[in-house]
Amino acid sequence: MVLDEPGLSLREADVAAPTLGSGQVLLRVRACGVCRTDLHVVDGELPSLDRPLIPGHQIVGTVEARGGAVGTLSVGDRVGVPWLGWTCGECRFCRTGRENLCPEARYTGYQIDGGYAELAVADARYCFPIPPGYPDQQAAPLLCAGLIGYRALRMSGEGERLGLYGFGSAAHIVIQVARHQGRRVFAFTRAGDAEAQRFALDLGASWAGDSAAPPPQPLDAAILFAPAGELVPAALRAVDKGGTVVCAGIHMSDIPTFPYRILWEERVVRSVANLTRRDGEEFLALAPQIPVRTEVRAYPLADANVALSDLRAGRIRGAAVLTVGPTRPP
Ligand SMILES: [Zn+2]
Ligand SMILES: [Zn+2]
Repeated sequence: MVLDEPGLSLREADVAAPTLGSGQVLLRVRACGVCRTDLHVVDGELPSLDRPLIPGHQIVGTVEARGGAVGTLSVGDRVGVPWLGWTCGECRFCRTGRENLCPEARYTGYQIDGGYAELAVADARYCFPIPPGYPDQQAAPLLCAGLIGYRALRMSGEGERLGLYGFGSAAHIVIQVARHQGRRVFAFTRAGDAEAQRFALDLGASWAGDSAAPPPQPLDAAILFAPAGELVPAALRAVDKGGTVVCAGIHMSDIPTFPYRILWEERVVRSVANLTRRDGEEFLALAPQIPVRTEVRAYPLADANVALSDLRAGRIRGAAVLTVGPTRPP
């Protein structure tokens, strides 16, 4: 499914199989999660690339062929491919454990063709083994919603009372990790979205309500998954002194001006950008221990535009996943 240019629907197309380079693996895609970032790419809210691209950065696939110099993976291995597809390894960010900030980084489903396809190539060093026990579809959302959600949770600090704004793919995973860590979770949804609020309560939220509503108690931290800038001052008003507001998305509408007093008393606003491979290793080791269970709605690859519009409209409980070919049992 090809994006010819931002603003258009994806186009089903027969394209040449990707060429396999040194250090890369050719993957037979089994499933690919649909992420809010894919919508930002399709809608042209990220810098445009001036070439057609194949979106998708939550790829679960099996290794079909290996290029030269691939040391770790074997043909037949099941692996996951995340958003971070390549980094330089030499810049001051890469050398200090911050490869997520590498200025030369290349991202899957953006600079590198992604998983809305039957075949994909990936740099073997950026692939993760998928924990056994997760079917392909259920594993896919772990690769971005899970990984970046986990990074955002880490950045939110150790506080007990955690607010989650936007209860979609990432939040439905993060709540399970947060509950496992003994935190209490307060879920904020679009006004009147009773179904999402019920979903949050089913997953152990202490409270669920509209995003403009104050929580019953001040929060220690809040994570914003919804890309709506007006939630930043709303979340600042909801967090207690010393609280942190983490913006977890790659794009957000403009943040309205707000009075300094809602930031005062050492409240913090920060963003989370991308992921490091270490985030992936840590989260994919933790997920089966909890165990994190993902709720997915599956769409055939050719229905990628339907999946994107359902995501845009907030019609998905949990995560949307495209399925490609026969899925492999856990
Ligand atoms: Zn770098
Ligand atoms: Zn993503």
